[in-house]
Amino acid sequence: MPTHTALTSADLREIRQSALGAADPLGIAAELADAVDAGRLTDENDAGFALMLAAEIAESRTKLDAALRYVERAVNTYATRDDSEVGAARALRARILFRSGREDEAMAELEPLRPLLTRYPDAAAYLGAALAVGGRNQVAEEWLTEAVRVALAERAASTEQSAEPVSAEDAGLLFFLLQQRHRIRHAIGRPHDAHDNLAERLESKLARAGASAAAESADDLLFWPHAEFDSMVVQWPALSQSYGGTWDQHRARLERELVRLAGTGRTGLTLLPGSVAGLIGYAGRDGEPADPKTRASYARQLAAGSRQINWPPERNEPCWCGSGSKYKKCCLPRSRG
Ligand SMILES: [Zn+2]
Ligand SMILES: [Zn+2]
Repeated sequence: MPTHTALTSADLREIRQSALGAADPLGIAAELADAVDAGRLTDENDAGFALMLAAEIAESRTKLDAALRYVERAVNTYATRDDSEVGAARALRARILFRSGREDEAMAELEPLRPLLTRYPDAAAYLGAALAVGGRNQVAEEWLTEAVRVALAERAASTEQSAEPVSAEDAGLLFFLLQQRHRIRHAIGRPHDAHDNLAERLESKLARAGASAAAESADDLLFWPHAEFDSMVVQWPALSQSYGGTWDQHRARLERELVRLAGTGRTGLTLLPGSVAGLIGYAGRDGEPADPKTRASYARQLAAGSRQINWPPERNEPCWCGSGSKYKKCCLPRSRG
């Protein structure tokens, strides 16, 4: 990364993409804070983002004191900006406090953020991640239940028709809340209720829509190589629902999907290796990177390019995922997991 030169918004996105895999991530975090201090950001509105980034880098290396210093500066920087950004920064602070064993302070930080759950997807994702890191599944279930109730009531008040959303897209943030709640309730062994049933109906509609989109564009198989996957889930925590919570889960999903497609008689199957920078660049022209439509059309663009990975490799060839292992010892067995 450039040193002692101005950092543009594009530089910051590039750093976000590459920092976790860099040789000296803590040096990069310090450099980011230094750039804020020295006024070396091309757009001074990026200061909060740069400090959040520094905090998450330090957190990922369990330098929790440094992470707290950075995130507190981010909170102060955002204090005069909108609720969504300062909410995300406060939720990140709570997450780092949980990791530091300061649980009461973490909960005190999160409590006032509850109303953000029904308003801002980014803040809601940070909030959910903080409660998960803190092992607060019961609290998360309670808050999400209340947020779903509020979101449904607001929906009913604003539409003439049925309050129940007809698709995941139509449901928007409500779908995200329903899904999170559904997953947590399974994790803590609660029986299905009406909201869980709604979550599953919307999830299966989304899956069917995805399956028909895949059938149309023969190759809609977006693959995140390991380093890309890691920075993707840091940047958009909610996308772990689309691509898997870990890289192993991501590879297993793709392998199973490819096996399934091959079973329907499809040939010439390929994986489409995506990148965070590529998706951001694509969305720059077309919209929000985390939006399912943006990702689907990004995948179609990749399918039209020349960098697809053919599937399946021979059993003794290197695996398609880039791990360096033989296919028969890597992703081939994942389809049976
Ligand atoms: Zn269920
Ligand atoms: Zn593999």
